[in-house]
Amino acid sequence: MYCQDCPRYDPDARRCRDGKLNPARYSDAVETANVFGVRAICMYNDHRQRLIQTRTATSTPTRPNRT
Ligand code: SF4
Repeated sequence: MYCQDCPRYDPDARRCRDGKLNPARYSDAVETANVFGVRAICMYNDHRQRLIQTRTATSTPTRPNRT
């Protein structure tokens, strides 16, 4: 979602009223999450779900193989 189309956007201050970040590109979303954390990224951001899934997949501990 574009911030300008969102009811939480403050056009006078030109920023999100909730203080969220809405990076347009996935690479920017990754970098934003690395610096500010995933919670800083807007719920409506197009890349948020992919980012969370990627982080969950890489941080889930795997069971050791028992053969
Ligand atoms: S960051 Fe998200 S909640 Fe904030 S104005 Fe933009 S779209 Fe809306």
